[in-house]
Amino acid sequence: MSNQEIVEIMDIPFNKLTENELLQQHLYPRINANKRTYIVTANPEIVMQTRVDAIYKKSVKSADYIIPDGAGIVKASKILGNPIEERVTGFDLMFKLLSYAEKHNLSCYFLGAQQEANDRAVSRVRNSYPGIRIAGSHHGYFNNDEEIAKQVAAAKPDLIFVAMGFPRQENFIAAHLHLFEKGVFMGVGGVFDILAGEVKRAPRAWIKLNLEWLYRLIKQPFRWKRILKAFEFMFRIMIRK
Ligand code: UDP
Repeated sequence: MSNQEIVEIMDIPFNKLTENELLQQHLYPRINANKRTYIVTANPEIVMQTRVDAIYKKSVKSADYIIPDGAGIVKASKILGNPIEERVTGFDLMFKLLSYAEKHNLSCYFLGAQQEANDRAVSRVRNSYPGIRIAGSHHGYFNNDEEIAKQVAAAKPDLIFVAMGFPRQENFIAAHLHLFEKGVFMGVGGVFDILAGEVKRAPRAWIKLNLEWLYRLIKQPFRWKRILKAFEFMFRIMIRK
């Protein structure tokens, strides 16, 4: 991809496409052509993790698309003088892809979260998107990665959502992508828990004000260390300039 389409933030090449461009010009055509595609939705915490974890950095950088899932990433791109137009959240992208899958009768695999949350998330998808074929599902607490990856591959899904949190989900995808002939792969973090109704997403107004991090901090205070990483990220971007 050309420089106009990419901005390097702490050595991570982010896509500058809007959500609409990404879907219409890249993802939908790739799905239709059965092209294998790996998407990372990266926020400041993920970028910070790549600085201290070389294996994870390799997993992230092997993606076809790294999308800016965080107001901090958009802000950083502006500070660095190569602005990204808009934030593209993994959450919204997943639901756009589900709608597309519904329309085109595609098959989806749901890998990750606790068994109960996974079951509930899949049944929500089944009810809300009856046109989707469920290729399969599996909880996210296993050690036999190779075996599970082969099971997923045998189902030949068009879309594979991996909800095991970072760095686990990206490491898993990057290590097993070669087993697949097609499929859009995407790490979606805690989204199955939200779908299952176990965790609430921040209200739209908070997201618009770029305060999703604050909402999560209030709801899940044990995350404070991760939030601190996001602040360190901003600080490092500013002093770099
Ligand atoms: N999880 C999993 N396997 C693991 C660790 C975590 O399936 O080995 C799941 C966990 O149940 C939760 C999600 O991964 O549903 C992580 O959510 P979180 O909001 O922490 O995602 P992150 O912000 O790290 O992407």
